[in-house]
Amino acid sequence: MRIDTKLIHGGVFGDERTGAVSVPIYQVSTYKQDAIGKHRGYEYSRTGNPTREALEKLIADLENGTRGFAFSSGMAAISTILSLFDQGDHLVVGDDIYGGTYRVMSGVFNRLGIQSTFVDTSDPEEVVAAIRPDTKAIYMETPSNPLLKVTDIRKMSEISRDRGLLLIVDNTFLTPYWQNPLDLGADIVVHSATKYLGGHSDVVAGLIAVKDEEMGERLHFLQNSIGGVLPPHDSWLLMRGMKTLGLRMRQHEASTRRLADWLQSRSDIETIHYPGLKDHPGHGVASSQARGYGGMLSFDVGSGKRAETVLSRTRYFTLAESLGAVESLISVPARMTHASIPPERRREIGITDGLIRVSIGVEDVEDLMEDLEQALR
Ligand SMILES: *Cc1c(COP(=O)(O)O)cnc(C)c1O
Repeated sequence: MRIDTKLIHGGVFGDERTGAVSVPIYQVSTYKQDAIGKHRGYEYSRTGNPTREALEKLIADLENGTRGFAFSSGMAAISTILSLFDQGDHLVVGDDIYGGTYRVMSGVFNRLGIQSTFVDTSDPEEVVAAIRPDTKAIYMETPSNPLLKVTDIRKMSEISRDRGLLLIVDNTFLTPYWQNPLDLGADIVVHSATKYLGGHSDVVAGLIAVKDEEMGERLHFLQNSIGGVLPPHDSWLLMRGMKTLGLRMRQHEASTRRLADWLQSRSDIETIHYPGLKDHPGHGVASSQARGYGGMLSFDVGSGKRAETVLSRTRYFTLAESLGAVESLISVPARMTHASIPPERRREIGITDGLIRVSIGVEDVEDLMEDLEQALR
């Protein structure tokens, strides 16, 4: 089955009993047992719920895994993964990962004795140099946020396999539509489904998929023990959004390419970060491991003051955090998503005050270009 068909027919299709073509919402917490200890596969909805299970099967199918898990947010999914580790374990982590992931690692799990070292994972030598005897995993995102740096998943998989480490990949930016980390050697793939998978800015959710069945069992134990599960109604909403993932991702990408080319032709834009551009340093690796380059783009307009002016003038780009929805969003990472990083550290990693990040929606791209044009002017 090809991916566009999988989005419609993967996981669980409709309802066997009634013929309904949409999976029913099982808004229920507990299930009647036929005798003590004898149940029909469901006991209690934290442990298992048929609507959530349909979504979990769908993400497993889309990522070519064997097991999937749905959580009440991307951070709940990530925190559950981090609960695989023990006191004294160490992780090597990408240095421009999602701010919330940085926060939970450096503000919560570090207190429980799980340490992280943050390095530029787009440089394999930095990753190897950071590995210690107590290192248990490499945690990465590609492309990264907001600089769209590309990390070679196959290379990270080689490094981790040789040393018995787990490779964990946050695939939020490209989704299984463009990139399948498990096929490239990752052990665990995680998503903030709040973004492209949901796609309509109406649900907060996280998803995990794995290939290895034993790892699946360990994650199910943690999901049920910690309990950050996605409710039935939100599971249904997410599946509803995911049916059109292919249509949306193709449009996001086509428009982003147009916009990137157009920005490149302008003399008043300093740097443009988009892995789809031939002169992007990660273009080669991106092309070798993903089928598309996504709908995220960032560019430098020269100063924080000019960035602020642009953000106050756009009409179709909504000033907001988050990304991956049908509506175009615009933000200044240095003052918003990445404000918690100290200014000198921000400068070091290239998140300048004039850097604008856009998430291209599915509006008419001509309108989007005209809107940016008048705001830049
Ligand atoms: C938003 C995001 C998260 C966190 O997900 P939530 O659903 O907001 O909890 C994790 N990783 C990436 C790359 C994200 O963009």
